[in-house]
Amino acid sequence: MVCELISVGTELLLGNIVNTNTQFLAEKCALLGLSMYHQVTVGDNRERLTQVIRTALDRSDIVILTGGLGPTEDDLTKEVCAEVMGFSLAEDPHTRQMIESYFKNNIYKEIPDNNWKQAIVPQGAIVLDNHNGTAPGLILEKDNKTAILLPGPPNELIPLFNEQVYPYLEKLRPEVIRSQMVKVCGIGESQVEDKLLDLIDSQTNPTIATYAKTGEVHLRITASAATTEEADSMIKPVVKEIKKRLGDAVYSTKENESLEMAVVRLLKKNGLTVTTAESCTGGMLAARLVNVPGVSDVYREGYITYSNKAKRRLLDVNKSTLKKYGAVSEQTAREMAIGGVFANGADVCVATTGIAGPDGGTEEKPVGLVYISCYLKDKVTVERFQFKGNREKIREQTVVKALDLLRRSILKNY
Ligand code: ATP
Ligand code: MG
Repeated sequence: MVCELISVGTELLLGNIVNTNTQFLAEKCALLGLSMYHQVTVGDNRERLTQVIRTALDRSDIVILTGGLGPTEDDLTKEVCAEVMGFSLAEDPHTRQMIESYFKNNIYKEIPDNNWKQAIVPQGAIVLDNHNGTAPGLILEKDNKTAILLPGPPNELIPLFNEQVYPYLEKLRPEVIRSQMVKVCGIGESQVEDKLLDLIDSQTNPTIATYAKTGEVHLRITASAATTEEADSMIKPVVKEIKKRLGDAVYSTKENESLEMAVVRLLKKNGLTVTTAESCTGGMLAARLVNVPGVSDVYREGYITYSNKAKRRLLDVNKSTLKKYGAVSEQTAREMAIGGVFANGADVCVATTGIAGPDGGTEEKPVGLVYISCYLKDKVTVERFQFKGNREKIREQTVVKALDLLRRSILKNY
């Protein structure tokens, strides 16, 4: 089944707002196994909107429109769509009631007159209650074509879609779609694709899609079949083969498990406590760990040692090391990790030191040079990286690599 997205709003055309709705919807549609060939953005203009809807209904089975359902003059989506599809408009008492109760709950004294416009719906349409705003979502079905109209504000659209549209689309499809995530860290996207090229090329069902994230690659394996069991059994051997080929680089096969969650899971499993000694990441590494609920079992304290003085005072890094090799060096990274463990008695310490830029780089030590170290079981591993990008990107990548070094160090030793 082919699905098409239409974003309505002149502010989108002018670049005043980022079109996050399209990204959200496209991802969901892919998850549902719907084919998507076109995404259109159109301004608040009657003729052009008419044209765009006609074209979309002509070439696609399902058209999802967002925006332009508001109460003002320039909100045209519902009127134009009803006209193109041949629906007449009438007030819906239930929606009128919903609007009334929405305003009651939102301590408005009076309901603006033009809001009643939103109680008018195409006759015969499925009305989707909007609990976060006044414009209901609408589903118009005719001649095997479906138009789904959703309000523009993401805080209204997202819950409405997840709660009411997703289940509706799931039922429309003849087959079941199941998917599984494989999350990879420590090797780049092209390397992943290299190792899986034959799998990616030869598979049509299940399909393997790769997504590059900062320092990570996510793979989604999707199968469609008559039943859930059948789809799952098609996915299973593919996941197994991917894990075999990528080995330790696979950190999770759970949709909602982040890298830091996987790291904390490993620490807990092995009864290890961890501490952090950060220079260029300035607490970002600690913050990522603390993202994980229940991390207090394994993480008690950490250090932000931005200056040489702090590295010496808190982590006992040797003055001579700093003088001879500099703060951004293998030797300093090594002593930071050891110092962290000795300072608070944790089992493991991860340390970061690098040049995040934009200033401070030299020919010998350019911006983006980062050392990451990990102390575990009387052994320190130090890795050297040369990251690209701006200050923010360099620091983000450092955190990911630090979490990954911690993860791999545990895997290697336990
Ligand atoms: P309203 O009742 O607020 O007028 P609406 O359904 O008419 O809702 P629009 O007027 O098109 O929607 O957009 C309202 C607001 O929703 C925009 O100002 C913007 O903040 C947000 N919005 C609309 N479309 C998008 C989009 N594609 N991506 C992200 N945000 C959007
Ligand atoms: Mg509007």
